[in-house]
Amino acid sequence: MNQPDFIVVGAGSAGCVLTRRLTEDFNATVTLVEAPSSPAPTRDRHRPANWIKLLKSAEDWNFSTEPTPSLANRRLQWPRGRGIGGSSRINAMIWFPPTEADVNRLAHASDNHWNAGRIHSAVKSIEQLLQPEDPRWLSRPSQSFLDATRSLADCKPMVYRRLNRLGKRTSLRSLIQTTLESPEPWEHRIEVVRGIADQLVWVDEKITGIELLTENGKTKLVSRYGVILASGAIGTPTILMRSGIGCPDALKEHGIASRVENLRVGKNLRDHLIMPVIFQQFSNADRFSPFDDPRHLAQWQTLGSGPLSSNLAECGGLFLADTVQLHVTPTHYLTFPKEDATAWMTIGVNVTQPQSCGHLHLRSADPSEPPAITTKYLDQHQDLEQAIQGVEFVRELAKLGAFRDTILTEVLPGPKRSTAGAIARSIERYSQTLYHPLGTCAAGNHPEDAVDHRFRLRNSCGLWVVDGSVFPGITMGNPNATIMSLAWMAAEEIAAAR
Ligand SMILES: Cc1cc2nc3c(=O)[nH]c(=O)nc-3n(C[C@H](O)[C@H](O)[C@H](O)COP(=O)(O)OP(=O)(O)OC[C@H]3O[C@@H](n4cnc5c(N)ncnc54)[C@H](O)[C@@H]3O)c2cc1C
Repeated sequence: MNQPDFIVVGAGSAGCVLTRRLTEDFNATVTLVEAPSSPAPTRDRHRPANWIKLLKSAEDWNFSTEPTPSLANRRLQWPRGRGIGGSSRINAMIWFPPTEADVNRLAHASDNHWNAGRIHSAVKSIEQLLQPEDPRWLSRPSQSFLDATRSLADCKPMVYRRLNRLGKRTSLRSLIQTTLESPEPWEHRIEVVRGIADQLVWVDEKITGIELLTENGKTKLVSRYGVILASGAIGTPTILMRSGIGCPDALKEHGIASRVENLRVGKNLRDHLIMPVIFQQFSNADRFSPFDDPRHLAQWQTLGSGPLSSNLAECGGLFLADTVQLHVTPTHYLTFPKEDATAWMTIGVNVTQPQSCGHLHLRSADPSEPPAITTKYLDQHQDLEQAIQGVEFVRELAKLGAFRDTILTEVLPGPKRSTAGAIARSIERYSQTLYHPLGTCAAGNHPEDAVDHRFRLRNSCGLWVVDGSVFPGITMGNPNATIMSLAWMAAEEIAAAR
């Protein structure tokens, strides 16, 4: 492709939706840049229960956080997907459309430009394209959880739909496949280039392209109308900082000349922290062991169902006036997929609206060096209090009817940790990321917000940001559906700028 209309950097959840829409609905030409990656084994990519095996694979950027004082100085693994599909390639596939609170937050941040009507219509369009599925099989712990919670007042138990097709992970490549593989050359509106995006290219005051590191060395790509960063909540702010966009003093430390002062780039980093409450089940006959049983394989291959079709986090929902989300899995959250003769169940608790905010910093100007990720989890006392209340609530649930009969004992936090202080110490030692970093280039209507409601990076020309980094704050639930909906709306804004 000579000179595309746009360059989209990052073929993840947002990048694939955006590229599809720009090319199919608005007839634009796009060069889609994605980091090189070697595919993980096909079975791990296709079988939902195997998603956990994709972590630390060649499809994972495999970031880790700085030691976190509030989490007993632990460094958490922070997986992010790499290759076409991005984090959707390795995620748990839960389809959680934006809640009313998410919609209101987006409407507020954009002065009602992203209004409820537009957001709902975007969600509907993506659902028509990707057709998230209801699960084809539910494990015994999920069934017991649903039986126990369905009749409770003021609770929203949910069986999570998934980005699956007939019990297999949906590949986002399908969104751009038709254009990529069309036999008609004039339909080739997408070109995929593999490389690590280093920094933006400027002509005078306008951003026109991107410099990449490819297997053949440094390359420069240039577009007609500009560049769209869709490299995710970690990738996007780091490309901006290397390009001289951010806090001038911080950039100077790495010898990077400041081009645009934008103090919110890399700030406002939010994530959901999950505390696993783990139970040993009464009967080992309920042991979840999906991998090696030929009957399970046959069931999955023929019907797309059975344990191999489980995404592990099969159900859960919003509880305690929507302050906590639960994720129910038929596993020991901290040891799975290690084989084990015991039957386990975990109910993961996460606060839906944590107020603690972290930040990202470059370690150097070298694009192959991962950034320093400072999370500040539990920095705000309310986050810890709500997490403790969530754990206490799960303990109450475990006493209910059908549920109680399936449980032998609680192993984490464990019966000895009964006080709020003891639960807090358990949260510090055992909680994990739920893999939802967002907000590092948050959009808003304040002149200092990193991005405006047309997805334009403030004080720049020819540059848009479209991915999880623009979400103002954090979604109530799992963010993928909301990010894709934002990308759907962004295509309209960007196409209009041609
Ligand atoms: C293990 C895991 C489980 C999850 N489970 C769920 C779930 O069940 N449901 C849910 O809703 N959400 C889930 N999430 C979160 C969700 O998948 C992400 O929030 C979402 O995919 C982010 O979309 P994005 O477009 O912002 O970024 P991504 O999808 O991460 O895309 C960014 C893309 O940019 C590329 N990129 C980055 N930097 C560069 C660079 N310098 N050069 C070239 N390319 C670059 C990356 O390789 C990637 O392809 C999960 C995430 C993970 C990691």
